[in-house]
Amino acid sequence: MNIRYIIPFILVLSFCFKNSRPQQLLLDVKELSSDKYEGRKAGTEGSRKAAGYIIERFKEIGLQRVNNSWKQEFKLNGSKKGAFPGINVMGSIPGKRKDLIIVSAHYDHLGKINGAIYNGADDNASGVAGLLAMATYFKNNPPEFTLLFVCFDAEESGLQGSKTFVSTPPVPLNLVALNINLDMISRADNKKIFVCGTHHFPYLKKYVTNNNKGEVKLLAGHDDPRLGRDDWTNQSDHYSFYQKHIPFLYFGVEDHPDYHRYTDDYEKIDRETFSNTSELLTKTVADLDKKLSLQKTFREKLIMEK
Ligand SMILES: [Zn+2]
Repeated sequence: MNIRYIIPFILVLSFCFKNSRPQQLLLDVKELSSDKYEGRKAGTEGSRKAAGYIIERFKEIGLQRVNNSWKQEFKLNGSKKGAFPGINVMGSIPGKRKDLIIVSAHYDHLGKINGAIYNGADDNASGVAGLLAMATYFKNNPPEFTLLFVCFDAEESGLQGSKTFVSTPPVPLNLVALNINLDMISRADNKKIFVCGTHHFPYLKKYVTNNNKGEVKLLAGHDDPRLGRDDWTNQSDHYSFYQKHIPFLYFGVEDHPDYHRYTDDYEKIDRETFSNTSELLTKTVADLDKKLSLQKTFREKLIMEK
């Protein structure tokens, strides 16, 4: 082949290859929000299957078990004797430091209501898929902090999974530098996703709003108590960490018409927007990991600046 055709040929080939392989991010969100998992309500067979899928993905990515286990089981509020327990799924990537960043996303949803399956594609199969994408990135690009990836159960019924986690922690809480919580990250339909938490932890703001070069923008907000219902401080699992005085950053989109309805399905997700959002969040967390680790006395600094 003539030399001047080789470069365009390679470009076309790599483009075809890239696009013939569906992205793992989309496969994960599609799988977890399929009818097979029956809406992933805590304590059901569907939720157990979802936990099983996440554990298999953790193994595939190459995460390590935490205290010899992928799971933290707990009794669900109001459950009868012999009922399925709640299951938090966890795995880690050791960093250069022993302090931890905990990346979390709840995997439970509402189950079946009046015969309709609530698949919770955005809420929160999307967060779990985003967490798996981050785990894959850090497996290939070793982090400074030790990273703990936790998929919480029973968020929808009173943050039970994360409350259990912080009250009987599998790792010492005084080592936790930060919680990154992902909940509803696939529907940045207006090209905006929010990071909530910098009102409480202003020193974190400079680390999170500097990657806004792409199509989807990350905006700080939804964390001032004066906003009333629009203050998301207690709206998902990051609140359990906040109550233990652990800094958090919560990433999520504003409510949409499919929120907590049976129409929150995979088909509603704009695939390109979700891919861009996931990349933006991974980049942001990679940045945080590097820049926060430059602070030797992280905890002391944190208390001073609060
Ligand atoms: Zn949620």
